[in-house]
This record gives sequence, structure tokens and C-alpha cells, in this order.
Amino acid sequence: MKPDVLVLGAGMIGTCTALQLALRGHSVVLLDRREPGRETSYGNAGLIQCEAVEPYPFPQDPAMLLRVALKRGADVNYHLGAMPSLASPLGQYWANSRGERYQQIAIEYGRLSSRSVTEHAHLIDMAGASDLVRRDGYRMVFRTQAGLEEAVRNAERLHSEAGVNFRAMTGEQLAAAEPALRQRLAGAVHWTDPWSVADPGELVQRYADAFVQRGGSIVHADAMSLRASGAGWQVQSEHGPIEAARAVVALGPWSDQLIRRLGYRLPLFVKRGYHRHYTGGRGPDLAMFDAERGYVMVPMKRGVRITTGAEFARLDAPSTPVQMARAEALARELMDLPEPVEATPWRGARPCTGDLKPVIGPAHRHPGLWFHFGHGHQGFTMGAVSARLLAEQMDGDTCIVDPSPYLPQRFP
Ligand SMILES: Cc1cc2nc3c(=O)[nH]c(=O)nc-3n(C[C@H](O)[C@H](O)[C@H](O)COP(=O)(O)OP(=O)(O)OC[C@H]3O[C@@H](n4cnc5c(N)ncnc54)[C@H](O)[C@@H]3O)c2cc1C
Repeated sequence: MKPDVLVLGAGMIGTCTALQLALRGHSVVLLDRREPGRETSYGNAGLIQCEAVEPYPFPQDPAMLLRVALKRGADVNYHLGAMPSLASPLGQYWANSRGERYQQIAIEYGRLSSRSVTEHAHLIDMAGASDLVRRDGYRMVFRTQAGLEEAVRNAERLHSEAGVNFRAMTGEQLAAAEPALRQRLAGAVHWTDPWSVADPGELVQRYADAFVQRGGSIVHADAMSLRASGAGWQVQSEHGPIEAARAVVALGPWSDQLIRRLGYRLPLFVKRGYHRHYTGGRGPDLAMFDAERGYVMVPMKRGVRITTGAEFARLDAPSTPVQMARAEALARELMDLPEPVEATPWRGARPCTGDLKPVIGPAHRHPGLWFHFGHGHQGFTMGAVSARLLAEQMDGDTCIVDPSPYLPQRFP
């Protein structure tokens, strides 16, 4: 087997990369230790968030920081013991979440996320995956009038600055749209343009099938076996060694483990998250973000999926699903949910960077090596457009957006 390109990691990011490269005529091997879309890209909330034109900043509000420090909410948890090793990337995350620096980052971030639905639409059509997709947005619901009013002001700002569409809903309108709600809420911001996917892992699998139909190969291999070899790169796979002139690291939260071996020290960290399904009860009709409580409830194939906010911890530290328990209790205030399907919550990890932007481009110290990871809260959203941008760079073509804000070399 001697492909042009090896893509390491078959999550949403790696699978879209492999598909975009195959569509451009490259012979590509996509490798993973599991089947496509079985890790982070399986367990997310399934939202293709074209409205997310600004990345999640590190909280600056003292009241919010105190609540986080005291671990009071469902939105954030942390492992104290992990903090020393996270101090450097989190310090950068905090510094980049402020003032003009954040404004500039948000512009660069929004250039990708705002194109997410359009770019996924091509791949969804090609993969015959329309049956998995709903195209009617999702709602951020608010329990307090003050929270709702602030969110509507912010939505108006995003509409005028970035063309993001929304509909403000009163409590009455929300109750009519969501008859399963057990209490009258203040109202909602309905983002009308995002899409939601009923089985995120299945969408990645359909993209992988489309890749194979276009001549691509998928193999099981340990990406940590990657070595420079001759003029290119080699991995050990179930079929023996595979060599290619170029390799793309798309290992999501595991990318840091591989690139450290090659001498790169990028400010990478993870925000872990949990989910559980509840089936048989009466859940929301449309995906719902309980914005003042920090968790998401989404109708999916396996039932209502509840996903939690961020947990700052080491990637492989044992699960501490305290946020899941809180989110479940909060969701039961709104919906009549049955017992959970899974005995224990699923856990995943959002691959994050200290400057809130993904890493998309050539590894600056190794010819033929390309980096594609760090998409944080919106990797499912950005997969298609980000992969297009990487493929265009690899081919030396005009890019869909200026690639410079995402290049690995921005980090010293
Ligand atoms: C609770 C939660 C909710 C979220 N909700 C959303 C959402 O609604 N919308 C959104 O856009 N994003 C969401 N995200 C973020 C999104 O899921 C991630 O950004 C995205 O899935 C990252 O994709 P990836 O391909 O980079 O990583 P992954 O999907 O994790 O893929 C990495 C792949 O690398 C493979 N791998 C790792 N190590 C090796 C090895 N040694 N050898 C071989 N293969 C290896 C893994 O098996 C895996 O398949 C959410 C995340 C979480 C945790």
C-alpha cells in the first residue's frame, strides 16, 4: 500500500480531511485504532453551529469565576491536581479571551464556523446522509427575564455584525413550541440556521463510506507508530508498514501525545464532557441549550441525549461525572425524563488550544507533515470547512479563507 497521504485519526476532522483529499484525486489511507467516528465525534451534541461565530471565552466575570471555583454549576468542573500541568495553556486561554485580542480571534474563528453548514451540506448530499439531519436550528432557553434580555441583545449584535439569524421567543411561544416543558420559562433565542444530527457518529461513518466509495482505504493502526521514513512518513498497520509522502495528524484530543514525540510543544488542553441518553419519556422537540444552567438536551436516535459543559482534567483521568448528575437533575425540572439508558455516562474530550482557534496547516519543522486538530467546542461543526481549507493548502490552491490565522507556526 503506497498512498499519497496518510490521515491519522478517523473522527469528524480526519474523516472529512480524507474525503476532501480523495475528492481532489489523491490516494489516501485513513487510519484509526477504532471504527470511524467512535470517540469525541460520536458523543457530542450533534449541532452544526453556523451561529457560533465567536469561540467560548474563558469567563472574566468575577461572580461566574467564583461559581466555577466553587464547582457549583453543571457547566464547569475541574480536577485540582491537573491544574499545574494545565496552567500554561489555560493562562493563554484566559489572556486570549479578553479585549481586542479576543475580538480579532472571534473574527478569524467566525470565518470558518459561519461556512460550516454550507460545506457540510455538500458532503451530506454526497454521503446520502440527509435522513440524519434536521435543518431547523436549536433553542437557547432562559429561566430568567434578565438572562433572556441579555441573550437577545447579544443575538441582535451578532445579527448586525455577522448576519446570524435568530428568532426571539416569549415564554408563551416557547411553551407552545415545546409542549413537553414542565414549567413556564422566560423565553428563548431560537437560532434558526444551525443543523442538528440525530446520530453524530453515524454521520462520520457515512462520510467514511463516501470516502471508500471514492477509492479511499481505511485501516486499523496505532498512530503513535508514525515515523519519518525516506522522503515521507510510515506507520505500522494491521496490514504491515504503510508509507506516504505526506501525513496529516488529526487525532483530536490525542494529537498532543503524538506531536510531543516529534518535539512540538503547542498550548493544547482538553475540556472533557459527558453524555447520557433517556428513552421512552417526552423530551424536547428541538435541541435545547439550558443556557443559564450549562447543559444541552437533544432528541437523537437513541433517545434524548443530555450533554454536559467543560471539565478541566487530564485526558485519561478517571471519570468524575458530577456535572452529568447535576445536568440530569436540572433537565428533570424541565422535562419528564425516564431513567438513563447507559449504566455510566459516556465521556469525551474537546481538543482545545490556548488561542481558541484550530490548528490547520503544515508542521513547520517536518516537511510532509500536516496538523489538523484543536477544534474545541465546534469540531463537529467545522469538520467539512476546515478539511477543505487543509486540502486546499496541501494542493497549493486558492483557499476558501485566508489560512494564516490557523497555521501551526503561530505558536513559537
Ligand atoms: C459533550 C460534548 C458535546 C459537544 N457538542 C458539540 C456540538 O454540538 N457541535 C460541535 O461542533 N462540536 C461539539 N463538540 C466538540 C466536537 O465533538 C469535537 O470538537 C470533535 O468531535 C473533534 O473531532 P476530532 O476528529 O478532532 O476528534 P475525535 O472525534 O476524537 O477523533 C480522533 C480520532 O483519533 C483516534 N485516535 C486517537 N489516538 C489514536 C491512536 N494512537 N491510533 C489511532 N487512532 C487514534 C480516535 O480513535 C478518534 O477516532 C462536543 C464535544 C463534547 C465532548
